Amino acid sequence: DNVAKIMGIPFPKMTMDQTVQVLDEVIDQHKSELFHVVTGNPEIVMSCQHDQSLRSIVDEAGLVTADGIGIVMVSRLKGGHLPERVTGCDLLFKLLEAGNHKKWSFYFLGADDATSKRAAEVISQTYPNVSILGRHHGFFKQEDDARIVQEIQSLAPDFLIVALGAPYAERWIHKYKSKLNAKIAIGVGGSLDVIAG
Ligand code: UDP
Repeated sequence: DNVAKIMGIPFPKMTMDQTVQVLDEVIDQHKSELFHVVTGNPEIVMSCQHDQSLRSIVDEAGLVTADGIGIVMVSRLKGGHLPERVTGCDLLFKLLEAGNHKKWSFYFLGADDATSKRAAEVISQTYPNVSILGRHHGFFKQEDDARIVQEIQSLAPDFLIVALGAPYAERWIHKYKSKLNAKIAIGVGGSLDVIAG
């Protein structure tokens, strides 16, 4: 079996490299539907036990990754054996690295404006072939959603990186899934803070 179920949530038994490989194929296939990657941390798994709307967001996702060593260890106790952790932050670094070779484009949503700006600078210095099509801080009101969604839609990035914190990022991505016009969207928590330093 190539899936480990943890409290009902299916985690594919994939390494980091295999995960990047799958996302590379998603980019190549040019499907019109957005591919949602959920970085499955213990908090999300626990919330899914009582929150049916979050549960259906996770069930509809293209991929759930093992976000943290806790998830990997639980999988071993249950005999499911996930090969390694694939955290949002590590995955983002790997995607920037691969994107630097493949010239992928990104839009970054989330973190405060100074952090977002600094992270974009660091990324464009470190990965010069990655194109940052746009960015927006993560402290906006719901009435700003339409403007932000429209901006992302018109830019049509390969990757929409949503650093709003879990599970807000997952809900936001799911809510606008059909409008975002990104190939892949991933909620990554505090990764932009890490990159900005
Ligand atoms: N954040 C945001 N808007 C908000 C709340 C949080 O952009 O309304 C950002 C915050 O600045 C940080 C990230 O979301 O960069 C949350 O990081 P955290 O590590 O707390 O996320 P988690 O690991 O819980 O998903």
